[in-house]
Amino acid sequence: TRQIQLTARPQGTPTPADFRTVEATLPDLAEGQVLVRNTYLSVDPYMRGRMNDVKSYVPPYALDAPLEGGAVGVVEESTSGSVPVGATVLHMAGWREHAVLGEREVRVVDTDAAPASAYLGALGMPGLTAWVGLTAIAHLREGDTVFVSGAAGAVGSMVGQLAHKLGAAKVVGSAGSAAKVSWLVDELGYDAAFDYSEGPVARQLAEHAPVDVYFDNVGGDHLEAAIQHMGTGGRLALCGAIAGYDHPVPGPRNLMLVIAKRLMLRGFIVSDHGDLAGEFYRTVAPWLASGDITYRETVLDGLDRTVEGFLGLATGANTGKMLIKLG
Ligand code: NDP
Repeated sequence: TRQIQLTARPQGTPTPADFRTVEATLPDLAEGQVLVRNTYLSVDPYMRGRMNDVKSYVPPYALDAPLEGGAVGVVEESTSGSVPVGATVLHMAGWREHAVLGEREVRVVDTDAAPASAYLGALGMPGLTAWVGLTAIAHLREGDTVFVSGAAGAVGSMVGQLAHKLGAAKVVGSAGSAAKVSWLVDELGYDAAFDYSEGPVARQLAEHAPVDVYFDNVGGDHLEAAIQHMGTGGRLALCGAIAGYDHPVPGPRNLMLVIAKRLMLRGFIVSDHGDLAGEFYRTVAPWLASGDITYRETVLDGLDRTVEGFLGLATGANTGKMLIKLG
């Protein structure tokens, strides 16, 4: 079975030379374990941070060991009383074709409620991130104007739709291409959207001011522009800052406005909010099933395209959730 390892800590933008694919031998199952054949691997922006050797909210990846990440797969062998052969499971042993895991390291998912891949995107960690940011962090209120950056990504595409469901009056998104902007407005119900490569964010956002809630996936110029156009008492959920993951970018130069407008900026990490996962799933799974909320996936085929998929997050190669499909 094959797995992908990190061979060097990327400097700036990662390259394929920072990774290698190795052939590995699987251990025999001990009591209470399962052999999983992965069917979908997730690649996520936060993985870039784990490639650096710095202390953060998750430990760095080890070099010359299999990378980790969200994945779903099918149980092919089991010595577990609770996870049978044939079950579809969600777990963190991604970047590889097979994994031997303890029964408590996997979660059985309901593939009647949604396709397995959705548990890595709309119904999974990215969807929960959108939910937590809007509800627990930004305290979205009926009638709010919401601005979302990275709006056509896995998290952002859920943020806009959930914001409407939760009572937002107007939702504005920014994304990196005309095709993504059309998708936001025509299919996801965004009230307005713009392509940030077409001109300064501050200028394009101006017509939608004042903004009540900003959901930040990007940082940099987007955050500065949002601060400029927030209304008094506005709330900013700082979720990600992808513009600066490979190379640092300047922070907002207008922090005096945070004071003048009594803004609330709050960063969050989704894994601190596992207590909201049940409420999220019970609320959003029916919306997905009814088609009230839609999602898209960009799917690359085969383990050999995993690195390409990961690198593509930094260039906007994905619309919706970026996934790798195996076998
Ligand atoms: P996405 O699916 O949104 O993929 C990343 C997207 O970022 C790309 O498609 C690209 O879209 C955009 N992008 C890349 N570089 C830039 C740039 N320089 N400026 C503006 N946009 C850029 O990823 P996710 O939905 O998984 O994650 C979105 C954000 O949320 C990330 O910042 C991530 O780190 C963060 N996150 C935070 C969590 C938390 O707990 N706080 C949990 C999960 C995610 P485009 O074509 O529009 O440029």
